[in-house]
Amino acid sequence: MKAIIKTRAAPGIEIVDLEKPVVGENDILVKVMAGSLCGSDVHIYEWTAGYEWLPMPVVLGHEFAGEVVEIGEKIRGVSRGDRITALPFMPCGECEFCLMGKVDICKQNYVLGLTRNGAFAEYMLIKGGAEILKIPDNVSHEVASLCEPLAITLNGIDLSGIKPGQTAAVFGPGPIGLLTVQLLKAAGAGQIIVTGTSADGRRLDIAQQLGADIIIDVEKEDPVKQVRKVAGHLDFVFEATGIPQTISQGLQMLKNGGKVMIIGIHARKATFDPIDLVRRSKSLIGVYGYDRNTWLRALTLMSAGKINLDPIITHRLPFSQGVKGFELAVSKTAAKVVFGPEA
Ligand SMILES: [Zn+2]
Ligand SMILES: [Zn+2]
Repeated sequence: MKAIIKTRAAPGIEIVDLEKPVVGENDILVKVMAGSLCGSDVHIYEWTAGYEWLPMPVVLGHEFAGEVVEIGEKIRGVSRGDRITALPFMPCGECEFCLMGKVDICKQNYVLGLTRNGAFAEYMLIKGGAEILKIPDNVSHEVASLCEPLAITLNGIDLSGIKPGQTAAVFGPGPIGLLTVQLLKAAGAGQIIVTGTSADGRRLDIAQQLGADIIIDVEKEDPVKQVRKVAGHLDFVFEATGIPQTISQGLQMLKNGGKVMIIGIHARKATFDPIDLVRRSKSLIGVYGYDRNTWLRALTLMSAGKINLDPIITHRLPFSQGVKGFELAVSKTAAKVVFGPEA
């Protein structure tokens, strides 16, 4: 089977032929129908700081949807033919702690596509201890593969506590930024500003299509001045670029009591003025992770058609064209690239 793997501590990935995995008694074999390329996969591809601990070789990919094709004898609650997705953080289900029900201190604590072979292959194994969710009939595999980033984004909206009528800027029209725009709209945001660069052209168009009120090209205009001019001070900034200077810029855009929600993965340190934070009661809040309930809500939003993921999925490619997919993401030509089996 074709697989997209990371083999060494240097930029790049490789496409290889691997044997189909052998199913153990506590395993579920999934035929991957859609594996979606995440910003963190792109960091691993470019080999920026923060992934030195990655065991290699490893099949990448932690955002997926697929069909159960085989199950180990100890597996309960999942059947052959089920359409599923699963949280990538995966207790093993067989160590002493898992057997005691203390899955949060599992000895293995696998992470799909990072510490354990992931979804960028025609078949993958997931463990019986995984949080598995069945995909509603009216949600396609491709759309369901975006459950993980949507759950992260939902977590950001939850942590912000945004109320209808409040204003927000979203830094970066990548997949997380574009999902944030839609959820802000669903949450009743009064005004949504999206910032990006000239390279983001297509993604900024999608942001506008999905409900952004104002677009700012940070290469042409000073984002802080421009936000003040068009919207005054904001209640929230959602940072989804990972660029260090955005933290300070975000703080400068806020009203007293405003919040910068940091979702982007920052490879370098950032500086900001703590006095502005203190005297104006502003907050910097890190957004990471999710739980099963966030995933269920993500699937509900998809199934109910409350958010539209089709414009975000800009490219569909077979696993064999992995390099092309990664390059489309690096060049920001793509919003979301979804890999799948050969057509
Ligand atoms: Zn992801
Ligand atoms: Zn365990």
